[in-house]
Amino acid sequence: APPTVRPHVVLLASPDAGHLIPLCELTRRLVEHHGFSATLVTFHSLSEQQSLPSSLPASVTIAPLPAVQIDDLPANAYRPTVLVELIRRSLPSLRTLLRSISSTTPIAALVPDFLCSTALPLATELGVPAYIFITTNITYLYLIHRLVELHEGASPGEYRALTDPLEIPGGLSLRRADLPEGYRSSKAPVYARLLAAGRRYRLAHGVLANSFSEMEPAAAEAFRQIAEQGAFPPVLPVGPLVRSESDEEAAAGASPVLEWLDGQPARSVVFVSFGSGGALSVEQTAELAAGLEATGHRFLWVVRMPSLDGRSYTFGAGADDDDPLVWLPQGFVQRTQGRGLAVAAWAPQVRVLSHPATAAFVSHCGWNSTLEGAVAGVPMIAWPLHTEQRMNALLLEESLGVALRLREREDGGVVAREEVAATVKELMGGG
Ligand code: UDP
Repeated sequence: APPTVRPHVVLLASPDAGHLIPLCELTRRLVEHHGFSATLVTFHSLSEQQSLPSSLPASVTIAPLPAVQIDDLPANAYRPTVLVELIRRSLPSLRTLLRSISSTTPIAALVPDFLCSTALPLATELGVPAYIFITTNITYLYLIHRLVELHEGASPGEYRALTDPLEIPGGLSLRRADLPEGYRSSKAPVYARLLAAGRRYRLAHGVLANSFSEMEPAAAEAFRQIAEQGAFPPVLPVGPLVRSESDEEAAAGASPVLEWLDGQPARSVVFVSFGSGGALSVEQTAELAAGLEATGHRFLWVVRMPSLDGRSYTFGAGADDDDPLVWLPQGFVQRTQGRGLAVAAWAPQVRVLSHPATAAFVSHCGWNSTLEGAVAGVPMIAWPLHTEQRMNALLLEESLGVALRLREREDGGVVAREEVAATVKELMGGG
């Protein structure tokens, strides 16, 4: 018999760990569990060169697109906007690449992650079905859907504001401040881009979301009905796509962090991490430190460079030799020695979360971190910082009851050490 030809899928990953990690996991599953062959298209990262997970099967072709200029964009531009622009400028080379692949191998499907929706018309041009991959949740997709629906019949250039509050399936009520930054003002340029992206989603055959219906039952059900009415492509919850511990182990090997955790009692350590880009101000870093110190609990804190310009993320900023630990309050490391470990920049998070010593997770509620916490069964303290994290925090606290939300100050000021300590103590029990 002739050898069976595997259908070939081309996946398109925008830079940043939060997108790359789940898209690689999706690629692995398509290849190992569903008989596909795959090309993974990447972009030259804006910042530190990201290494691809070792779990990616060797048979996957990695195709990096040539670098494009983006240094004309303002240094403080909203991060997703920068990524979307990077991708838009890479479209000519993507078209060339896709034509070259399809000249030898028929492409069964194109799977761009959701920041790469400008690639959807290319799929139409090539006559290839496209499935857009949402690296976040179905609730976020609901925002996009509402935005598109709200503008049905709108004239070009007319932007209508989402209601305040916005009601979400499952009874969540989002105030304006709970929305991702881009959705808050219908006058901001990013609002127009989000609407355009949402409209492009309708070109897709389906929308893959890194979630599962038990996590968001009401939103998943809402989309079943919406798709039946033909108002949106079918939404397929394919998550949770999280790395396995063994994958992380293969990548990082022995880790001083894991060795330290091995020496701690079961369910005793508070793990603190704000993802691959979340950042606190210098003052907030000091308050968090004082709060952790005051609890008396054991902790493992992944300390990132503080933000010096008021933004809550520092993706791509900073140099390799920056040492975030120098920003900790004087004497903090010595005073907490033995029961606390502060590490710079990065920890093997999946392994930390599934370690028996880990009891709680203070998290920025990035969706990957959220799924990793949920998969490991670790209760969370929600400390949302940017993009859709405030909404994720509400989902975790109000709909799922798996997180306590840190009470932020109405004026956006620094969260006091007392609040940090009280919330950690409440979650850890014992007062
Ligand atoms: N991550 C990690 N170690 C760290 C910080 C982050 O392994 O010290 C991983 C984390 O496990 C997750 C991803 O980076 O898979 C961050 O994605 P998330 O959606 O949580 O947040 P983002 O970085 O996009 O804000």
